[in-house]
Amino acid sequence: MKGAVLYGPGDVRVETREDPTIVEPTDAILRLSASCICGSDLWPYRGVGTSPGPRPMGHEYVGVVEEVGREVRNIKPGEFVVGSFFASDNTCPICHAGYQSRCVDARPMGALGAQAPYLRVPLADGTLVATPEIPPDAMIPSLLAASDVLGTGWFAADAAAVGPGKTVVVVGDGAVGLLGVLAAKQMGAERIIAMSRHTNRQRLALAFGATDIVTERGDEGVARIKEMTDGLGAQSVIEAVGTQESMMQAIRSTRPGGHVGFVGVTHGVAIPGLELFSAEVHLHGGPAPVRRYLPTLIDLIWKGEIDPGQVFDQTLPLGQAADGYRAMDERRAIKTLLTL
Ligand SMILES: [Zn+2]
Repeated sequence: MKGAVLYGPGDVRVETREDPTIVEPTDAILRLSASCICGSDLWPYRGVGTSPGPRPMGHEYVGVVEEVGREVRNIKPGEFVVGSFFASDNTCPICHAGYQSRCVDARPMGALGAQAPYLRVPLADGTLVATPEIPPDAMIPSLLAASDVLGTGWFAADAAAVGPGKTVVVVGDGAVGLLGVLAAKQMGAERIIAMSRHTNRQRLALAFGATDIVTERGDEGVARIKEMTDGLGAQSVIEAVGTQESMMQAIRSTRPGGHVGFVGVTHGVAIPGLELFSAEVHLHGGPAPVRRYLPTLIDLIWKGEIDPGQVFDQTLPLGQAADGYRAMDERRAIKTLLTL
């Protein structure tokens, strides 16, 4: 099969990879319906925090089960399934507490390379969630979004304790931030302030339920949020970038007693201790336990209540994956769907 492989900074190639086969008896092999490029793929693409390639790319996936290992009980060939970026057993105490992304046996799916037509999924029974039937083609982008960016935005809103009547600030206008807006709307937030300076992203934020747009960032952005919240800051703030500036912008935009849900993969973030002490905010985040939310998210998509697939504003064949990485890196595309 062909698959996307990262050789080094800015160097993605689509080349022949070995077809995946069952390795452990708890594995499943999927024939993927579509794949996509994640904002977090841009970190290694830019040469940040990664070992030299070549390495297969991609950790978001939906598709039809082709084959299962002899110990797989619940997932059956022919079913359409959605998984997330960590495989998990869904039986250990950490999974039972709802933190499947930190399962005692968590397996990073990125290492297996989902930007390809076939994928091996370890711990299939714990990892995969089947849809009620084979979905129509038009629903596939939304189900693919559930695999990571929707699940991550949802966790961010949950971690930020979003709820009815609350004011929510979203720092970051990538796919995760935009779907954090959608999640906040679903969770009943009264006011949703999206921080963005790109008109196409602002438009999508408003379509997903944002009530206000703030274009200022850093200290000016914080001042604007304070102005809009009687000088208090917001009750709930979603951080979906992972830089020093965005993290401090999120903490400083939160009122004492409020909650920050942070899901941007942090790079070089250092929070000053005394400022954290004085801020008196709840901080909760990390790699999203998407598996916890998949049944709920699939149900909402199936009923047509949410349409998160709108975050894909570029579609390319897998063979042009390198163009997709470039477009996302240059922020010409919010998120690129790869057809297989
Ligand atoms: Zn587990």
